[in-house]
Amino acid sequence: MFTLLRDFIWDDSKKNQNRKSLYQLIHREGPISKSNVLKSFSVPQTTLTRMVAEFEGNGWIRSGGFGQPSGGRPPVLYKVREDAGYFIGIEIARVVQVLLLDLEFNILNRKKFSVTVEHTPEITIPFIINMMKQLIQTHQISVSDIIGIGIGAIGPLDRNNGRMINPESFIASGWDNVPIVNEIKKEFPVPILINNGANTAALAEYQAQLFSSENLLYCISGYGIRCGFIQAGISLNSRQGDASSYGHIIVEPGGRLCSCGKKGCLNAYSSFGAMFAQIKREVPSMELTSSGQLVEALNQNVHIVEKVVQESAYYYGLAVANMINLLHPDVVLLEGKLIKESEAYMNDVISIATEHVYSNRRRDITIRKGQLGRDAVAVGAAVEVFHSFFKR
Ligand SMILES: [Zn+2]
Repeated sequence: MFTLLRDFIWDDSKKNQNRKSLYQLIHREGPISKSNVLKSFSVPQTTLTRMVAEFEGNGWIRSGGFGQPSGGRPPVLYKVREDAGYFIGIEIARVVQVLLLDLEFNILNRKKFSVTVEHTPEITIPFIINMMKQLIQTHQISVSDIIGIGIGAIGPLDRNNGRMINPESFIASGWDNVPIVNEIKKEFPVPILINNGANTAALAEYQAQLFSSENLLYCISGYGIRCGFIQAGISLNSRQGDASSYGHIIVEPGGRLCSCGKKGCLNAYSSFGAMFAQIKREVPSMELTSSGQLVEALNQNVHIVEKVVQESAYYYGLAVANMINLLHPDVVLLEGKLIKESEAYMNDVISIATEHVYSNRRRDITIRKGQLGRDAVAVGAAVEVFHSFFKR
């Protein structure tokens, strides 16, 4: 009997676990031959042949070419069918982005908009739902083809109850304890997970580099500064999904006043808001209000802007070094508008960080840009919801 992939993946019963493990293995390792499957999946060969035939008959997997023959005929390789189901990944930050993804997390289409003072939850959530509907209609996908929805948002969050709690650096009002997961579920009755975007981005990059670095630190800088950390292949989530707390580590005791009321936080030096304020203190007639203006002034070599941005890089580099000394990542990935648009900024951050890393660790660490850019947040949210079906 033909079964929808999502009914199979959602089935958490004990008797389904073995089949799900096989599907997960093919998803992760495919294209893969039956004999290679048997190396890490211990069932009799006849059982495996029966399971593979069932998966293929249901349209969940397909052959994906042939492997190297070891004597005899070349073995058939199997991979998941990328169109057997879909995910929606959503990033909620100063830019809201909705991605439609296939089962291999390829981005099929996207929609996005910038959050302004007018974007209260009452306006924003229906807008997001509308974008989701447009995306699936364009691709002639029905809601029953959606396996799960992941949201990577700005913290703090109530992850268990799917709520956003007063996100830092949001400029619109009304974002206080917003049950965003339930609101979306009314229109899309599928499993939905919310997590901090820094954590979901870390997960997406971890998967994109084929799980090769077990300890990965991911830092997003912009209006706020957030970090996600994967340790031994597992995402470390703070209880409130509040990855913004990294922005409040102290980089200058007794230093500049931070928006949190304390002094000397990283945010008070390296966030866009802090840079705008410092530029205005130095040159009162110079009032920057957007990151785009800042990048433009930087490209025009406006001296004071260069100086403030350099200072921002210095403190950010110190903070990254502190985090490396504390968390021992193998790789540090940086993401953010300045990282993306100014090579000098990125190089400054990397050289200051490297200089301040505890000496024994220095040569083992790679600090670089992520592979996925800003898409990592929404892609990783989809990856996280997929993985959640395989946890027991
Ligand atoms: Zn602070």
